[in-house]
Amino acid sequence: MSGVFSLAIHGGAGVLQPDRMTPERAAACNAALDRALTAGEAVLARDGTALDAVAAAVCALEDEPLFNAGRGAVFTRDGRQEMDAAIMDGTDRRAGAVAGIFGPKNPILAARAVMENTGHVLMIGDGALDVAREAALDFRPPEYFFTRERWDALQDTLRMERDGALDDDPSRRHGTVGAVARDRNGGLAAATSTGGMTAKRSGRVGDSPVIGAGTFADNASCAVSATGDGEVFLRLCVAHEIDARMRLAQMSLDCAAEEVIMRDLTTAGGSGGLIAVDRHGAIVMPFNCDGMYRGWSEDGRNRGTAIYREA
Ligand code: ASP
Repeated sequence: MSGVFSLAIHGGAGVLQPDRMTPERAAACNAALDRALTAGEAVLARDGTALDAVAAAVCALEDEPLFNAGRGAVFTRDGRQEMDAAIMDGTDRRAGAVAGIFGPKNPILAARAVMENTGHVLMIGDGALDVAREAALDFRPPEYFFTRERWDALQDTLRMERDGALDDDPSRRHGTVGAVARDRNGGLAAATSTGGMTAKRSGRVGDSPVIGAGTFADNASCAVSATGDGEVFLRLCVAHEIDARMRLAQMSLDCAAEEVIMRDLTTAGGSGGLIAVDRHGAIVMPFNCDGMYRGWSEDGRNRGTAIYREA
């Protein structure tokens, strides 16, 4: 083991189009990413596990109203918020996920409770909320999760649908948060949390909580957290494709991720990206759209945040 840690985080591929981004907004997004990076780094720097680090980073991102997860999640077409989350430990491929839930302040902790306290992997509805209550997780009222910006995005989207107009603004449509890490002992983990797509039908579940689609980790290959058009990521089994190409075709993480995002996702008409780390700690963050809110840290040294392609 090299003894170094790596951490990458994302706040989703649903970025504001560059011409609509203000310097103030960009600064707020970068500051929010930096806070989440710091939360994950704090765990890894004291020899904590990759699992604890991705949970800490995703909790911080869920608490940020700027990103579509936890507080600030998007609305369904009937004006509700339904959240999906998943976490996976690459050490033993344990995984937990929740879909369509509302109430827990940090859906990623509900996913972790499913992993640690039940014999199941993916839970929905009242059963998932019971697991969260049994784990004594913090529940919040609707006012906590509501943001005017997401509500207005729903109204705009519904109006555009009625008018037959094309919604070409990814920041209105979607977003997600996620983290991947390699700890100092070589453990890998991934976590992803989302409100899904604006104006989705109630009951729609995207790729984020589906192991092998939006979230995956195995110490032998890589940890992946994806963001983008969930239906396409589901059909392509994006996260597992990357793991499979590494394991079965001996591809590097860089080649596998590049191929899946830049070629396969694009060919399938999907937009988005992902963050991933391999067992040596190499980080990749490909996306085929305008940008992806993201941050990275290699043992606290090569460290930064970015939104568009320039970084
Ligand atoms: N992949 C998410 C979903 O489909 C949305 C996103 O990441 O933008 O629910």
